[in-house]
Amino acid sequence: MSKGQHVTRHIFVTGGVVSSLGKGLTSASLALLLKRRGYRIRMQKLDPYLNVDPGTMSPYQHGEVYVTVDGAETDLDLGHYERFTGIPCTRVSNFTSGRIYGSVIAKERAGGYLGKTVQVIPHITDAIKEAIHAIDGDDVDIAITEIGGTVGDIESLPFLEAIRQYRQDIGRQNGLFVHLTLVPFLKAAGEMKTKPSQQSVGVLRSLGIFPDILICRCEQTLDQEHRDKLALFCGVDRNKVIEEKDVDFSIYEVPLALSRQDVDVFILEMLGLHVHRVDMADWHAMLDAMRAPAHGAVEIAVVGKYISLRDSYKSVYEALTHGGIANGVQVRVRMVESEDVESAGAAAKLAGVQGILVPGGFGDRGIEGMIQTAQYARENRIPYFGICLGMQCATIEFARHVCKLADANSTEFDPATQHPVIDLMEEQRGLTEKGANMRLGACPCRLRAGTLARKAYGRDDISERHRHRYEFNNSFQETLTAKGLVIGGVCEQRNLVEVIELPDHPWFVGCQFHPEFQSTPLDAHPLFRDFIGAALKKR
Ligand code: GLN
Repeated sequence: MSKGQHVTRHIFVTGGVVSSLGKGLTSASLALLLKRRGYRIRMQKLDPYLNVDPGTMSPYQHGEVYVTVDGAETDLDLGHYERFTGIPCTRVSNFTSGRIYGSVIAKERAGGYLGKTVQVIPHITDAIKEAIHAIDGDDVDIAITEIGGTVGDIESLPFLEAIRQYRQDIGRQNGLFVHLTLVPFLKAAGEMKTKPSQQSVGVLRSLGIFPDILICRCEQTLDQEHRDKLALFCGVDRNKVIEEKDVDFSIYEVPLALSRQDVDVFILEMLGLHVHRVDMADWHAMLDAMRAPAHGAVEIAVVGKYISLRDSYKSVYEALTHGGIANGVQVRVRMVESEDVESAGAAAKLAGVQGILVPGGFGDRGIEGMIQTAQYARENRIPYFGICLGMQCATIEFARHVCKLADANSTEFDPATQHPVIDLMEEQRGLTEKGANMRLGACPCRLRAGTLARKAYGRDDISERHRHRYEFNNSFQETLTAKGLVIGGVCEQRNLVEVIELPDHPWFVGCQFHPEFQSTPLDAHPLFRDFIGAALKKR
């Protein structure tokens, strides 16, 4: 599958025993190390579930929906990929069974198989191989493909067959299988157990996949005896049984823990690539800054409607951490369910925090709690950061309590309101389907001089990612700005308000886009950086 002389090497990452082992983090860590060794990396995730993309799934089912620059609604693991490596993901960075089957079925209906019986092998597996090939290319040295789900799932079988074939197609020396597994510690027995890993590798081998590297998630140190046992029973070289012990305090420690065991060196050697020197000094410095924050801690309330599941706001929490790193301060998050603000009152839930963030969301549950939260932040002069829905709630609050439009609302929550300060975008009217048809992906925005946003970014023109159907209603712009609301940034091409701010307040910013998707630990997003900076001053 090479183009010209160039051969893209492929690494396939599978997971065994249980889900939630951190395959995304592990894949992102490997990508970071290989990038730092001087190679051009591209990443993707193949998800075995049948939804065409996660865009239609509840955050409780799936966690955050990560949006790429080109507007794909994707798995949150892509957020790890971008945060660790800084390499942008695109539409071809995430495929699901639903998308693969959808394309095969559409082709069949179009007569594309010329009378053949359409089958899982070869037609579905060929479509999966095409998806993998989509991240191949002359500008890619190493492509990393993570297979979602757990080995042994019925749904993941076509994906495993496809990667087996893919490696055979490109030549064994150009591909690698990395298997992430769990080595549990049984308290009652007082020892670590390798059997689940043996069985999961057994399943892989029965499918023709012989892992080259075994990465073992464990709570305790993996001693030599267990490494030897795993190597023997799983058919992996002894030095390629790698420990991935639970990290003490930050996921950003994982790449360093893996590199201490030379996993990146082994990978390059096995793929016949030169092992260049690696420099991780900035990464070490970032972790040191996290370990010993120069300015102590700040407490930030995140008031959302999917609070009970941490993954729902994954990128927001990460970006807050990054904002902390940039300010030399630890960010402690107080997670507040917006419905609890409705029942207990804002003061009861929010007193004592130095900053308040209201993230994105859909549907009317918990909205009044978010509006009360914005009011509390405005009146008590607490730094406020509203993202997408959080910006819309701050606008509604301002219209209701400052402009005295008592029933002001978004038509998402009250279609009959007399004062729809947030309203459906023109392009959304008449749409009946739900999949992949919001305003999605990167859009340009021009910031206005003298605003908090302009100050944070340090430039006039920015590009940020979107995922919404509703927008600031320009017919209320005059009413709201007459009472002091500041329009901080606008998409001039389409005359859409993208940023609102309040003057005479320590820091109050709402943005229609999702800045959290572009923040990295080495380069905090400017709005998160300044929000935490304002919280630090508040303290
Ligand atoms: N529900 C709102 C909209 O569709 C906000 C979306 C979001 O927060 N991502 O406009």
